[in-house]
Amino acid sequence: MSQEFWNPEIESLDRDQICALEAPLIADQIRYVYDKSPYYRDKYDRAGVDPSSIDSHGALAALPFTEKADIADAQQQGQLFGPNQCCDFEDIVRMTCTGGSTGEPTRLGWTQNDIEVYNEMGARALWAMGCRPRDLVVSCLNYSMYAGGIMDHGAFETLGAGILPYSIGNSERLLEMLSRFPAREQGYSLFMTPSYAVRLADIAQQQGIDLHRLNVTRGYFSGEAGLQVPGYRDKIEQAWGMTAMDMYGTAELGVQSGECEHRAGHHYCGAGLVAVELVDPDSGEVLAFDNDSSGELVYTSLRREACPLIRLRSHDIVRIYTEPCACGRNSFRLHTLGRSDDMFIVKGVNVFPLAIQEALLKHRPEVSAEFFVELSQTPPIDYRPRLCVEVSAKVDAARYAALAKAIEATLQLGCNFSAAIELVAQGSIASEHKTRRLYRAYLGNSAPELEILYRQS
Ligand SMILES: [Zn+2]
Repeated sequence: MSQEFWNPEIESLDRDQICALEAPLIADQIRYVYDKSPYYRDKYDRAGVDPSSIDSHGALAALPFTEKADIADAQQQGQLFGPNQCCDFEDIVRMTCTGGSTGEPTRLGWTQNDIEVYNEMGARALWAMGCRPRDLVVSCLNYSMYAGGIMDHGAFETLGAGILPYSIGNSERLLEMLSRFPAREQGYSLFMTPSYAVRLADIAQQQGIDLHRLNVTRGYFSGEAGLQVPGYRDKIEQAWGMTAMDMYGTAELGVQSGECEHRAGHHYCGAGLVAVELVDPDSGEVLAFDNDSSGELVYTSLRREACPLIRLRSHDIVRIYTEPCACGRNSFRLHTLGRSDDMFIVKGVNVFPLAIQEALLKHRPEVSAEFFVELSQTPPIDYRPRLCVEVSAKVDAARYAALAKAIEATLQLGCNFSAAIELVAQGSIASEHKTRRLYRAYLGNSAPELEILYRQS
């Protein structure tokens, strides 16, 4: 059976039709949280909002936002899941943690229905990305607590693909296993972070393994926005001889977006399951859902039983596209610009790690474009932050100073800020899990100690 979409009926709806579909679901979810959660009830009573009046996307704007920190704070004070827990413990069948890239991991509870909702969104996104039941996928995301492992595993299974839960670590054994897989017409697929694909390619090169002989034909990428950086996808596709497709989602709500074969941004795949608003990241004001506008995504779960999230601020800054896509999906598409909590301001200029990555790619192959920034002092940042960059083993030490100077100039031109460049050996920054790009040492989050090959004065 040929099938273009996972859920044709839903995925062909446009924004107006989706809003009409979701309006009664918004009303139901708000009534549910008001009845079940003292936290939401108090919050809405204090804001003077009558919950029965919240019955559309437009009406959501009357409700205060939920911040991830509200839930994390309650957990630190002793609650298992936090104040938004709405069901009994006996109905919770799974616990996961969020990645904690900007703080302590936060625990989430899921009922069986919650997991099915997550799987449905994930299956839509993966299908858009070209995943089919014939796929055999090796999943190299972290299965220890995090959503990317166990939760996304369920989405692949729901779609009907075969999936091997490999998790992270043991890179050498992974390469050895892949090299022993028998030949297969469709090849094999990988599910991992983009930076791990780059790291694995380095390890393979060190071990004399030719990745093009491994029969890995497709890669599904998640956990980091790297594939959207021009040049980074090419690097991965060329190294592995694979087609690399990208997914974007949140640990709190699920995998909601995947790019289709036209690679024109990520199709939002949460219609009827998670409502979306676009807001101004500074003022919180709701923005119109117009083509080519940018803002922060705010999510409202629509069918969540265990831990509903109403107007959750994602802190993901995106550009949205509402023009129809050639694939026939009519949901909006998004392109991630960065996370507002990863953004830092140097001498008044907003800097996103993704833009740094884009600038570094201009210096390939001398650098791998794996990097991190460390901010040593409390803002305002009027100094040159430390930027640690992986340099290829093929670059002669005599070239380090000139290379660092050239990188500094590219950053100045592309990102309009100046950094103190440090060079470290290739393979020392990229990790198996998400590679962290920003360390705020002034908050106690210092970068790992690495052997520095060259340090700009
Ligand atoms: Zn499309």
